Amino acid sequence: MKIAVLREQADGEKRVSATPETVRKLISLGADVAVEAGSGFAASFADQGYAEAGAQVADRAATLAGAGIVLGVQGPDPASLAGAAPGAWVVASLNPFGARDRVEGYAAAGLEALAMDLMPRITRAQSMDILSSQSNLSGYKAVLDAAAEYGRAFPMMMTAAGTVSAARVFVMGVGVAGLQAIATARRLGAQVSATDVRSATREQIQSLGAKPIFVDSVAGIEGEGTGGYAGETSPEYQAAQAELVSGHIAKQDIVITTALIPGRPAPRLITDGQVATMRPGSVIVDLAVEQGGNVEGAVAGEVVERHGVRIVGHRNVPSRLAADASALYARNLFNFLSAFWDKEQGRPVLDAEIGDAIRLTQGGKIVNPRLL
Ligand code: NAD
Repeated sequence: MKIAVLREQADGEKRVSATPETVRKLISLGADVAVEAGSGFAASFADQGYAEAGAQVADRAATLAGAGIVLGVQGPDPASLAGAAPGAWVVASLNPFGARDRVEGYAAAGLEALAMDLMPRITRAQSMDILSSQSNLSGYKAVLDAAAEYGRAFPMMMTAAGTVSAARVFVMGVGVAGLQAIATARRLGAQVSATDVRSATREQIQSLGAKPIFVDSVAGIEGEGTGGYAGETSPEYQAAQAELVSGHIAKQDIVITTALIPGRPAPRLITDGQVATMRPGSVIVDLAVEQGGNVEGAVAGEVVERHGVRIVGHRNVPSRLAADASALYARNLFNFLSAFWDKEQGRPVLDAEIGDAIRLTQGGKIVNPRLL
């Protein structure tokens, strides 16, 4: 089985889907690995490292020729995959609800597209979960991005010239990214509070030494929510949340929003009027900006200023930590392929629980029930 590692084509994408470490491991499973020249360059992995790990480093056509599995970070353009074996797997973060045309392209090309971003949140798939590995780094980077825009310090400092007070940081949405944002802001010495619609996060917030800010008058989502994810809340809950947040936000220096609802636009959590209540010089980082944004006025790919408040909307935050993001992403892909590797057939064979969840196309058709 030949595995092809492609150089990412999307603007600003610095990550790579395999590292020399995972190439070596894939080869030890019995695979042949080809890496498109320059694939790891932006993530600090040189071609030489891949060659030393045993990969063939080649141009795109030679990399793809006869490959049965094609690895990517973002979904490659179906038109650019000519030469791969018939029915080859395309294993990447395929954004199936946002990039339907591309999914149709994989079907038309007879490829089997496997969306790693639809990996079910079950215990045995944790090591294959690209959303978690990338969100964790995003949460960390969001705090550093906020600190870089903020004209003050995070920790309290008592100096001979006087005292600098600790920054107040509020994290909205306490999933994987939010938890890491809380932990990172705490490590930098900030006073941290956080909120979520899922009641199960209250204890997690407390265990990281932050203060939970919760709507108690109306029920949100009791416990974990389906598959660990949030759903949409009632209009009553949204009104109570808006009121609670309004009072709290005006006293914050930094707000980090991470709230997402799978398959839906991100919930709007902060209005322009609420931004106006914050002190000039405050910073908001909207990690959901590419899914529609939690913050009114946030612009994807830009840092904008509204009412003296900087609203940070970087795209593709994991790519801003390309070396670590690639290392973890590549291990997720290796863990996936190796968990299903069938030694006799010399290729991975999926089971129904995971296969049916992530398979988008097969035999020339879209087959995933969530896309039908
Ligand atoms: P996510 O990226 O889908 O959403 C981020 C957070 O935003 C979630 O905590 C969500 O509840 C919250 N949110 C949604 N709407 C909101 C609103 N209106 N106001 C405030 N917050 C709102 O979430 P995620 O990071 O993917 O994690 C979701 C859960 O799944 C977590 O509990 C995580 O621990 C769990 N998880 C489980 C596994 C596993 O078992 N394999 C793997 C990863 C994550």
